[in-house]
Amino acid sequence: MINMLAQRARTLTLLLAALWGPAMAADDPSVASDYQAVAGHTPATGDQPFVNPAPTDPRAPAPASVPVPVPVAPATVAAPLVEAPPPRHQRSLDLRVQPVPPSTAVPAPEPLSKPAPDPVPPPLGQAVEPVSGPGSAAILAACWTPEQLSGRPGERKIKQRQPADHSPPARLAPHHPAPPLGDAFARSLRSVTPFNGRKLIALTFDLCEQSNEVTGYDGELVDTLRAANAKATFYAGGKWMRSHPERTRQLMADPLFELGNHAWTHGNLRVLDGREMQDQIHWTQAQYELLREDLLARPCAQPHAAEGHDSIPVLPQTFRYPYGTCNAASLAAVAAAGLYPVQWSIVTGDPAAGQSAAQIVRGVLASLKPGAIVVAHGNGRGWHTAEAMKTLIPALRKRGYDLVTVSELIAAGTPHLVEECYEVKSGDNHRYDKLFGKGTE
Ligand SMILES: [Zn+2]
Repeated sequence: MINMLAQRARTLTLLLAALWGPAMAADDPSVASDYQAVAGHTPATGDQPFVNPAPTDPRAPAPASVPVPVPVAPATVAAPLVEAPPPRHQRSLDLRVQPVPPSTAVPAPEPLSKPAPDPVPPPLGQAVEPVSGPGSAAILAACWTPEQLSGRPGERKIKQRQPADHSPPARLAPHHPAPPLGDAFARSLRSVTPFNGRKLIALTFDLCEQSNEVTGYDGELVDTLRAANAKATFYAGGKWMRSHPERTRQLMADPLFELGNHAWTHGNLRVLDGREMQDQIHWTQAQYELLREDLLARPCAQPHAAEGHDSIPVLPQTFRYPYGTCNAASLAAVAAAGLYPVQWSIVTGDPAAGQSAAQIVRGVLASLKPGAIVVAHGNGRGWHTAEAMKTLIPALRKRGYDLVTVSELIAAGTPHLVEECYEVKSGDNHRYDKLFGKGTE
């Protein structure tokens, strides 16, 4: 009887969502800014035909991609919610925090490995074994106990801050900047076509933090990834790293994880320009560099310092645009900072409270292709992200997929690069420019 009632309640919910959904226009600001609005939303995918079959030479220009209509599943009823705009104080949003269950056990880190691979595609046909992670298992084990690595209740909580914090990091530019990438990489990377048809997938989790908030750390998610021995990439805002220095150092040291740059305070790099745009990129690189130096200088890391110097990347190697927005100038600025502009090909829609774990799993599996990049959140903004990963990761492996970091994915295939940035199709995030302006106030 209880099952019947539950089934009926679910049917009613889906029916309401189906009716309610079409009324939510994609361009309606109240929808774009409302995390709760996407009940019944099935994530769409921007995973389009791969169009540049062989730019193994990074100097070779990649042909422009012609966006194609995104396949829409019958249950899709609302606008995609990828980089859900962070809450603004004038808007009323439900930011209640989901309770965090006791942390799961942390397995022994996998054996340490080679340094992070150089993200330049190897010759066609050469297999790339994604066995190495970007961190140091020895430092991770030496500097933290399993309890210290585990998530803690309440850590997911997102706190609003007034006045906003516009203070710069203690270092304004990295002391050891990366060499610029070629012009061919001043494009947004949507996905990769792995060599030899290998089934690789990169799970990514954004750690966004604006100037007027301190966002959370989804310990349940990180614990879940560790328990599953699942590789992932975290796109961390520079200010998020400063707000969460110990978590940042842990993620940095863990061979399962790679840290990418997600701008200083989640600035809109299609609207920002000049110094403000550059600061969003370089301050974040500098903050990472400071935290890495601090980690390697700790007594616990000293016995492994040489190894750590080699294996923990000096700087993030990839960049994710806040709001998924860019323009030619910011693409060029990111590439000039030695960063690959990385977007996604599969959207989980996890900032929507109505997006259940089951819907996230179904949406990803329905859009699955080798070389896919999945976007979700790890800063407490994803509602059912950890729960979804507990089902999704085994389901991916059952289908023959290996989880890799974004840098490993780039090294293992042909990148699919396009000239613009969008959520799932060309032009679909332009509304954010009017809604959020620079995104840094
Ligand atoms: Zn973000």
